Amino acid sequence: MTTVNIPPFDATYQYQALAAEIEKNVCAVMSGGRYIMGPQVKEFEERFAQYLECEQVISCNSCTDALHLALRALKIGPGDEVITTPFSFIATTEAIGIVGATPVFVDVDLNTYNIDPNLIEEKITGRTKAILPVHLYGRPCNMTAIMAIARKYNLKVIEDCAQATGAMWSGKKVGTIGDVGCFSFFPTKNLGCVGDGGAIATSNPVIAERVEYLRRHGGKVKYQHDELGLNSRLDTVQAAVLLVKLPYVEQWNSARAAIANYYINQLAEIKNIILPQVVQEGKSVWNQFTIRVLEGQRDHVQKILKEKGVGTMVYYPIPLHLQHVHTNLGYSQGSLPSSEKLSHEVLSLPMFPELTVSSQKVVTEALIQAFSVFALT
Ligand SMILES: *Cc1c(COP(=O)(O)O)cnc(C)c1O
Repeated sequence: MTTVNIPPFDATYQYQALAAEIEKNVCAVMSGGRYIMGPQVKEFEERFAQYLECEQVISCNSCTDALHLALRALKIGPGDEVITTPFSFIATTEAIGIVGATPVFVDVDLNTYNIDPNLIEEKITGRTKAILPVHLYGRPCNMTAIMAIARKYNLKVIEDCAQATGAMWSGKKVGTIGDVGCFSFFPTKNLGCVGDGGAIATSNPVIAERVEYLRRHGGKVKYQHDELGLNSRLDTVQAAVLLVKLPYVEQWNSARAAIANYYINQLAEIKNIILPQVVQEGKSVWNQFTIRVLEGQRDHVQKILKEKGVGTMVYYPIPLHLQHVHTNLGYSQGSLPSSEKLSHEVLSLPMFPELTVSSQKVVTEALIQAFSVFALT
């Protein structure tokens, strides 16, 4: 019997497929000597702005820094509140906390895993400055509802698009609907580089200018510093890799959608799981394919899948409001029930564009078998 090993994610396929071109570009950076802010950085920023259909892209070191820079550019700091989701990666609230502002959590919609727009208004106070929605797992938030609330209360909107490069809402790419969109090129994201990388998208020239100098030590003129900034540039090497990969992102996102479609069809018969819903008003880019498993069954299912060589992940086992680092915010167990429920139920299946049809079949058959024990009870 051959042992299968299907990882939740594998970045090496994309490198192998494009190795010649990537190596050529990376070597050109090395021999060219412009390791910091070389011409490839600007070229990538321009191409990514064209891809997103927005005025400007400013690259930086990571999406964590992109969020930080966006908040700083909007002059959000101590005393200000930023409304966001408790069901995300820590970077979302880390950035809010690092600039001295306070994250205010609004629970998620169980059907979308994203912030529930119906619960936002009741959390708005005189100190609220912005809404920070996260397009989790590649699924766009309801930006129509979020933008309507933002306009009504004059709030800024910062979109965390780390998992959603290429996702659409109502005909526009996410990250171009709010005031600022923050992107990650971490290797597991839909457009990944070979290390850390990130970017900010905006069509507001004031924000663009502020982000551009805050990412390089806060000075518009070299050696003259007006504000405390960051050292947060995208490495030229990473830009060189991203220039090769960007033309393929749509094709990769389509491959992810086809896998999601297969999973949805094959898993429909399992009674004990809830499948992710297909987005009607937009397009998910399926950074993750995340099912909900009845509380108490997840460990069993994950263990059986592992025995069958199928890797899975739990994003995220602890919602942000219950993280130790956020104890001072004063949220208790039970305060955001949908996020807490999801943290006990979610399970992400293998998902990357190169996942073969035979591997997809192994995944779904293993799941059907894993659940067969519960069908009897
Ligand atoms: C990955 C991720 C980030 C952070 O991105 P980095 O580029 O690793 O800093 C932020 N938010 C979400 C939702 C993420 O998934």
